[in-house]
Amino acid sequence: MTLETSIEYVKGIGPERAKLIKNVLGISTVEDFLNFYPIRYLDKSKVHKISQLKDINTDVQLKGKITNIQEVQTGKTKRLSAKFNDDTGSMELVWFQYSKWLKEQLPINKEIYIFGKINVFNNQYSMPHPEIEVEEKKETENRLRPIYPSSEKLTKRGLNQKFFQNILRNICKEIPNLIEENLPEYLIKSFKFLSRQHTFLNIHFPKNLDFFEKANYRLKFEESFFFQLGFGLKKLHHKTKSHGNPFPIIGDYFNNFYENHLPFDLTNAQKRVLKEIRLDMKKPIQMNRLLQGDVGSGKTMVALLTMLIAMDNGFQSCMMAPTEILAQQHYNGIKDLLKDTGINIRLLTGSTKASERKIIHEELENGSLSILVGTHAVLEDKVKFKNLGLAIIDEQHRFGVAQRAKLWAKNKVPPHILVMTATPIPRTLAMSFYSDLDVSVIDEMPVGRKPIITAHRREKDRLFVYNFCRDEIKKGRQVYFVYPLIEESETLDYKNLMEGLEHVMQYFSSYNVSMLHGRMKPDEKDAAMNYFASRKAEIMVATTVIEVGVNVPNASVMVIESAERFGLSQLHQLRGRVGRGAEQSYCILMTSDKLSTESRTRIKTMTETNDGFKISEVDMQLRGPGDILGTQQSGVIDFKRLDLVNDSEIIKNTKKIVEKILETDPLLSRTENQIIKNYYLKYYKGKNKWSKIS
Ligand code: ADP
Ligand code: MG
Repeated sequence: MTLETSIEYVKGIGPERAKLIKNVLGISTVEDFLNFYPIRYLDKSKVHKISQLKDINTDVQLKGKITNIQEVQTGKTKRLSAKFNDDTGSMELVWFQYSKWLKEQLPINKEIYIFGKINVFNNQYSMPHPEIEVEEKKETENRLRPIYPSSEKLTKRGLNQKFFQNILRNICKEIPNLIEENLPEYLIKSFKFLSRQHTFLNIHFPKNLDFFEKANYRLKFEESFFFQLGFGLKKLHHKTKSHGNPFPIIGDYFNNFYENHLPFDLTNAQKRVLKEIRLDMKKPIQMNRLLQGDVGSGKTMVALLTMLIAMDNGFQSCMMAPTEILAQQHYNGIKDLLKDTGINIRLLTGSTKASERKIIHEELENGSLSILVGTHAVLEDKVKFKNLGLAIIDEQHRFGVAQRAKLWAKNKVPPHILVMTATPIPRTLAMSFYSDLDVSVIDEMPVGRKPIITAHRREKDRLFVYNFCRDEIKKGRQVYFVYPLIEESETLDYKNLMEGLEHVMQYFSSYNVSMLHGRMKPDEKDAAMNYFASRKAEIMVATTVIEVGVNVPNASVMVIESAERFGLSQLHQLRGRVGRGAEQSYCILMTSDKLSTESRTRIKTMTETNDGFKISEVDMQLRGPGDILGTQQSGVIDFKRLDLVNDSEIIKNTKKIVEKILETDPLLSRTENQIIKNYYLKYYKGKNKWSKIS
């Protein structure tokens, strides 16, 4: 038997079953079977009592006697029913399919152990198809029985847990000939790992819980380790192969702005991140950096300072935002900051007029335009730069990979790339999924920012909420009312929004209300936005269109209607629309009275913390990592054992270890690392088509 041996030749399988197993479980070799891990174990060292049974669908072991057997006919079907007693009560054992042999062999009035799932039938506990062991034969060791993922289709054809256990027992006997070590001695020693052979033995047939934990730990470690190794090697490869324009100069543009025009002191986090970016761009290697920072943490200023460094080195910059409103805001903000510097900056979006477009094209090509802000309109082929040196992308997850790739092609030597996202990605996810990128984090808010106060209110509190809003408006503040957007039913959204609008207009009849939703044309949206931003309207009623980046510092109250229908990251984004000025801001989450457990957790999390990272961790626990990355990318993190939610320690550790190994031995050429290299080349190389942000 080798790892490649087809399962057809494993004792107990044969060609027919092999085919079935392959079709249903995708297992075709001995190696596949070894990697077919139990989903759980049945603990045979515990004996339950009938009188204490509570949960159905759990596996239990009971000790007692069968006192009576009968065949029961209902309609066309026959079942075998046995009465089972222990010293606390009785229950039914039942077989829906059974042989004559079974019927005759059932031990009556003998002390036995039975195992199986508890069911309720006719208001009585029952156990279908129990496994039976006569007491004197009871095993004393290896009491954790593996339970494998199976399916009805297989069980029906006799391929039940007992079958899988037998097959794996047969295969495990061969482990000494099959399994080779894949980690070097120094790692095994320092982590006190089980050997790889013992790992497989104990994952299938754990000696005890302690050994299971050890085996499981090692498998998680291996998964994370080789995954990180792949990323590490890729990153090295990128660094040695991807040319970039070095930006060694910090010159007049940067210094003049920094000394004379910076309207505030940078936070320490902003300074640190800026330094990380500067170090990257100094090198003749393309920067590939993800900048994470909570809403309002001041990413735009970092972006601007980075663009000034590009200018100091004679290069143009381009900043791309996912929506017209956002591009406009970036443009206005940056233009305002640069107003006394004479630096040429322009805005290019879908609605830019032809005459302006012409100027932009000319100025980009002759190099007199230094900074272009825009939507994906900047990606069009007609948009050519003289020397694009830096591309900044705001709100990363809204652009597709293909779109970003277009930016690369805009210069002979690809521009440095800085991707900014306000949706913090949980650290474990960032470390694994984005570990081929460099990540910078702004984890500090500008001083003087008052944390937003978040409250949960229900329909019965509506009048109270409205009164509160009115009081804020009287103080000179502005208020948002946001309604959920359900993609499947735009009509319903629209109706909700209109009803909401009517409600609000009725109650706040002495104030002006602006409205913003996805059905409006770009210039209508702009007009609505400006109406609110210029304080002509005290109230903005909107769908989630305003989620991304909108900046009206005077708005201090965000009322989110039907808040239970929003995801956590969306709620956090929406909340970030307030708290941008010096005033105390509020976020009010309106929900119906009945909430699911998950909704309740979301709402509670929101009222308890303003920290985007904490929120993203909870979000990952609720939705799983796949949903956070988006379906398109979730296959990438298809780990068998490693759990991105709970194994952050392992991920952190392996990342460090891999970094250390590659630092001293980037080609894995040292003798002690051969074992890693060989395993990697055999199992991992070419298998990870990971994210590349640019
Ligand atoms: P985001 O990270 O969400 O893009 P912005 O860059 O829009 O945040 O910044 C939010 C607000 O904070 C802006 O009004 C900006 O001028 C201000 N700001 C940024 N950095 C600082 C700072 N260091 N001190 C004070 N205010 C700052
Ligand atoms: Mg922003």
